Amino acid sequence: MNITVVGSGYVGLVVGACLAETGNDVICADVDPKKIEGLKKNQLPIYEPGLEPLVERNQAQKRLSFTTDVAAAITSANVIFIAVGTPPDEDGSADLRHVLAVAEQIGQHMKRELVIVTKSTVPVGTAGKVSDAVGKHAKHRFHMCSNPEFLKEGAAVDDFMKPDRVVLGVASDFARSVMAELYAPFVRTGKPIIFMDIASAEMTKYAANAMLATRISFMNEIARLCETVGANVDAVRRGIGSDDRIGPSFLFPGPGYGGSCFPKDVQALIRTAQSVQVPLEVVSAVEKANERQKHVLFEKTTKALGGSIKGALIAVWGLAFKPQTDDMREAPALTLIDELLAAGATVKAHDPVAEHEARRRLGEKIMYADSNYDAATGADALIVVTDWNEYRHPDFRRIKQALKRPVLIDGRNLYDPQQMRSLGFTYDSIGRV
Ligand code: NAD
Repeated sequence: MNITVVGSGYVGLVVGACLAETGNDVICADVDPKKIEGLKKNQLPIYEPGLEPLVERNQAQKRLSFTTDVAAAITSANVIFIAVGTPPDEDGSADLRHVLAVAEQIGQHMKRELVIVTKSTVPVGTAGKVSDAVGKHAKHRFHMCSNPEFLKEGAAVDDFMKPDRVVLGVASDFARSVMAELYAPFVRTGKPIIFMDIASAEMTKYAANAMLATRISFMNEIARLCETVGANVDAVRRGIGSDDRIGPSFLFPGPGYGGSCFPKDVQALIRTAQSVQVPLEVVSAVEKANERQKHVLFEKTTKALGGSIKGALIAVWGLAFKPQTDDMREAPALTLIDELLAAGATVKAHDPVAEHEARRRLGEKIMYADSNYDAATGADALIVVTDWNEYRHPDFRRIKQALKRPVLIDGRNLYDPQQMRSLGFTYDSIGRV
């Protein structure tokens, strides 16, 4: 099939490369000339394990190409994926400006009957708006499909190639059969393609992210309570996670959820609900609890340093919002660093891959360390923010020697509290005493 993917970010690039890998002819289009120039030379704008060889191989075999000419890319397609950003509007609702701009272009430049797929995360009713925008100009029939994306940054290629399920919201047999054919290679192991109406598919993505965010905020609250009543959240997590009805995933407390999806999708869902006068009490509380949790590392560090961190040098391990990605959108590290700087501390940070992104966002407001040990050198406290593998089992004696004061705040519960204390650290973590 001839596929065009409009928007070559974390999602569009993965979708395009994976669809090319299964033999389709794919054009990835984006308005960002720097991104496209780099991609033509196999230089990826993002860090995503396994993606580079996929792009390189499929580009070499001429199944994958990149362009800034969105109009031309539309003319050759049987299926067009819209994978542009849907950032939060001023009030938190999803900003559909980019999605609708692409829809207008599709209407103007389409040359045949085609399927238009919204891959971007969009509120219920968006397919209708896209259809109206395309329909204003369209000279050919077109079929809408809502195909929310569930990939996880850091494991995106694997998630797309071997999905747990594919959700397809369709309103015509044409769209249903084209999309079933396109996804057949990805569900050979028997994982389901779940067809549904378009509104339900749009809602499924928000419900999934809100559910996952709920688990995180729930565990963060339980962790807070554990600390106060003398319980250990790790034990509690294992205790409840082994219940089949609950399951072990997404039960890890931490410094609050971040990233490009949970914060904005939770907010957008709340705004959708408000707009139809259906208040979402649980989801609103999830967001509120997360806002509070984002301050926990600053509070713990200040307490451990005796109430003031003015003039202190603080080492931060991990800047990306989670491991295996360079994405820092809504990263807990950003909130923490803002608070540390505002309180008069100096920050020296390390991240295995996100330094370039941190420099773009923070410039020289903080110092950047070549290694995690370098970050700790001379610091009054070390805060672990992101659970990169290389931080899991460090040389603690070396850390202790490097630090000016042996204060270790573990935002991901990577280390054993007893061991840390026996090594002489002033140690604090999330939900463990
Ligand atoms: P991104 O910001 O990385 O990429 C979006 C791309 O769209 C950018 O490269 C931008 O230049 C391009 N763009 C914007 N307007 C355009 C236009 N008019 N024409 C062509 N290109 C245009 O965003 P992302 O993380 O890939 O997210 C895209 C969508 O997918 C969002 O709705 C997001 O919520 C959703 N999503 C993201 C993830 C994730 O983990 N990142 C997972 C599932 C769903």
